Amino acid sequence: MKKNKILLLLLFLLFEIYTYANTVSVRILTTKIINTFIFTPLESDYTVYADGELLMECDPSGIFQMNIEGDFIRLKTFEKDLGKFSTIKIIAKKAESSFKIKSVIPSGKIRTYDNDLEIKLSPDKRQFILVNKVDLENYIAGVVESEGGKGSNLEYYKIQSVLCRTYLLAHINRHMLEGFEVCDDVHCQAYVSKASDGTIKKAVLKTKEIVVVDNNLNLITAAFHSNCGGETCNSQDVWAMTTTYLKSIQDTYCLNQSQAHWERIIPLEDWQEYIQLKYKQSINSKKKANIITSFNQESGREIYFYDKDLKIPLKNIRADFKLKSTYFSIEQIRDSIIFKGRGYGHGVGLCQEGAMQMAKLKHPYENILHHYYKDVNLVDVSALNYFRQE
Ligand SMILES: [Zn+2]
Ligand SMILES: [Zn+2]
Repeated sequence: MKKNKILLLLLFLLFEIYTYANTVSVRILTTKIINTFIFTPLESDYTVYADGELLMECDPSGIFQMNIEGDFIRLKTFEKDLGKFSTIKIIAKKAESSFKIKSVIPSGKIRTYDNDLEIKLSPDKRQFILVNKVDLENYIAGVVESEGGKGSNLEYYKIQSVLCRTYLLAHINRHMLEGFEVCDDVHCQAYVSKASDGTIKKAVLKTKEIVVVDNNLNLITAAFHSNCGGETCNSQDVWAMTTTYLKSIQDTYCLNQSQAHWERIIPLEDWQEYIQLKYKQSINSKKKANIITSFNQESGREIYFYDKDLKIPLKNIRADFKLKSTYFSIEQIRDSIIFKGRGYGHGVGLCQEGAMQMAKLKHPYENILHHYYKDVNLVDVSALNYFRQE
């Protein structure tokens, strides 16, 4: 793809003159209905603005309490009542800044976030809309830690960082009408606090502004799953979605990992009932019952559970029996059906346990992404912005 490389190079040379939004506005505590909370700066001094006017300065010893009173926000310190307002903005004086927030009514855990906080009420004045205006890379680190947990290695966190950033930019307009860009719930990406793991922060900085795009420079749908069992799936075989990059590949890296194998036993009677009821297939002859009670995918993943008269999508069987994957064989042992399965999850895109293993074996994160996503490019988000302005 020589042409694409030249185009990307041109974009890299040109993007310097364009700036991209380097902050993101995230609604925090989205799923909580809070009446009263406390705000405390952790690092840096903050400036408090109320209804657009400068109200006061505060240092890390300051504590503010806010509660809903009628159609307004009542703002207090320990010493005094500062009044009632419609909007409050608490803006950090330095880039390195963070704050603590704790719901008092109802009682909640302390959460910490980087950068600024904007506070307003929902249109019905029943709840707070708390918006964390946060440096984009700080947000990515918070999401990587919230979603993936601590304890993985640097190369693996680089993958997570790039995929989180790609997802964010693909969904940045989701909540535009509500006055923020993304929420902190799994609806967008889980973001329960700022990152505390140094390796995660390093991975985010090392991949700063990098996203994954397909050959048409569209941000990819960065699908991933726990373990593919040795072979990933084409997106169109699992969802009604054809892409150039979510293609089936062979993967040996996940074969000895914790989610590589599973087993499930169900009564033969249940299985035959299922086949009969669900697909109105009568199983009278012993011969036919034998055919339907034995199936394997030894030569690779199949899409259908197949018998001469019967074509059942494996994904339906997976959903109906709540199986870990569609990559299974079945056999009958006396009056039971034994499912012997491989992998965990839908099987599309990146296999997390395989990627983790590749990272441990010192494969660079770029190679790992290219292993799981076919024909993709890693580009600077600024270059992408430039392309979009064209
Ligand atoms: Zn959302
Ligand atoms: Zn795998």
